[in-house]
Amino acid sequence: MLHGFADSSTKAFAAAIYLRNVGEDGSVRTTLLCSKARVCPLKTRTLPVELEAAKLLAHLLSHTAAALKIPINNSMCWSDSMIALSWMQKPLHKLITFVANRVAIIQELLPGVPWRHINSEENPADFPSRGISADDMVKSTLWWKGLKILQYKSQWPNDCHYFTGDKLPGMKSTTTVLLTLHKTEENCTLWELYSSYFKLLRIVAWILRFHRCCLAKKKKIKTATINNNTTIQDDELFLSYSDIRHAKFTLLRQQQMDSFPEEWNSISKNKLLPKSSPLAGLSVSISDKQVLMVSGRVSDRKLIPLSGKHILTKLMLRTLHQFYSHASNTTLISIVGNEFYIIGIKNQLKKISRTCTKCQQVNAHPMSQRMGLLPSIRTHQDQHLCLFICMSTRCVHLEVCKSLSTEDFLAAFWRFSNRRGCPQEMYSDNGSNFQGAANEFYKLQQIVKKAKQQLQAHVQNIKWHFTPPRSPNFGGIWEAGIKVMKTLMKKMVEPHPLKLDELMNVITSIEALMNSRPLLSAEGVELEEGLALTPAHFLIYRPMKAPPHSSNISCKNHISQKVATCAKIAARL
Ligand SMILES: [Zn+2]
Repeated sequence: MLHGFADSSTKAFAAAIYLRNVGEDGSVRTTLLCSKARVCPLKTRTLPVELEAAKLLAHLLSHTAAALKIPINNSMCWSDSMIALSWMQKPLHKLITFVANRVAIIQELLPGVPWRHINSEENPADFPSRGISADDMVKSTLWWKGLKILQYKSQWPNDCHYFTGDKLPGMKSTTTVLLTLHKTEENCTLWELYSSYFKLLRIVAWILRFHRCCLAKKKKIKTATINNNTTIQDDELFLSYSDIRHAKFTLLRQQQMDSFPEEWNSISKNKLLPKSSPLAGLSVSISDKQVLMVSGRVSDRKLIPLSGKHILTKLMLRTLHQFYSHASNTTLISIVGNEFYIIGIKNQLKKISRTCTKCQQVNAHPMSQRMGLLPSIRTHQDQHLCLFICMSTRCVHLEVCKSLSTEDFLAAFWRFSNRRGCPQEMYSDNGSNFQGAANEFYKLQQIVKKAKQQLQAHVQNIKWHFTPPRSPNFGGIWEAGIKVMKTLMKKMVEPHPLKLDELMNVITSIEALMNSRPLLSAEGVELEEGLALTPAHFLIYRPMKAPPHSSNISCKNHISQKVATCAKIAARL
């Protein structure tokens, strides 16, 4: 048998192993087998090195036992450190990581090996850990032979008192939570077992019938008639109406005794109700079914008072809510109100419908999310173009109208007249030409007529002419202008919406192009300098789109000469 000893000091820690050999005659011999010592690390540790010594012993003992082919459980270990011994008895999860790692190694190397306590003076491993002179070592019986008690197995200690609780360092701090439950609800647990009021009624009815039958047997009475006219044999398999009714009033009575104990006592003793009672303002009586009944000013209508907070009332309301197809709370209040006077029924029904899965599914609102910004293609406004054309020079002026309103048309008219001068006479289409074709043309006519009235109110000298009805040929000059404008617009603008400033650029560009068209065919008219006459010549004495020519600007006489030419041509037109 192997005995290992571990000890440590501030300088070193050591382990020593002794072999205990029992002879055939029963004589016991103990001898030092091997020992090992290690110097303590220079850095001071907060934890004792006794555990390191125990770990060293575990390594040495497992190697020795393996070399000698002695079973490891036929060994015993000794240490003088109570703390290290206590740690080895503790579950690993209660120890801090440093200690738990070392204890785990020891337990793994020495499974099932008992550890015993020994005094420091009797520990032979004390010599290598503290140091000893050579002379003393040679003479030391303790070192060479080991402990005396190793020879007497009966003197070996069975166990030792380990440290427990706060005395032992190196333990994880633990928090203890004490939870106490105090049940304040009524004692009848039968109500909490069932989720349906109707099912509970039937079960109570069966219990009551069993009770009645037992009583009847005990009294040795042949109860042929228990419930009025029905016999036991007849309704043995089914519950009768009176069974259910009996069960119902039994439950209601218990419910009222729980909810209104003071009221019950006062009424049964013919006393007045306490002032704090919820039934104080009502006339309360006990019915023949032994339940409390309340009535208001109409004595015929008597209701059974119940507390809405009672668990049985909640169960009843929840069952009725489902029974009446999840009807609204108002409906249920009126239905229940025919028989019961439930205090706080509104709140209870609200809670029930709020927690009811079916009601939640039906009443749920679909998820809504904040709408994003509209794409720019959807935010553009329709724009309208207004074409003014000079009847004599064919000069074109285009204006943008925001809408088909009189105000916008007048604004366009004022912009035109401010830039080009106020016209003396105005010719416009007659809206009746297009009646039935499009509403917009009719609207246009109304606008122009209104505009005419307003203009004539302010500017007396504008004479407004409408073309005759059903004769679009009278307005050929502006119809042609519109056609040209539309063609140019289609060619210039790609099919995508334009911003207002982009549209203004396009419009002025079209206007310039239209004013730069020759008035007559260049072949038919002989012009000085071979330049075709355009409407622009009447405005800036040259085509709008032509690059400026030096001769046009340098000579004033030349300009006046051209003006004279233009006037001459205009007169000819
Ligand atoms: Zn519901």
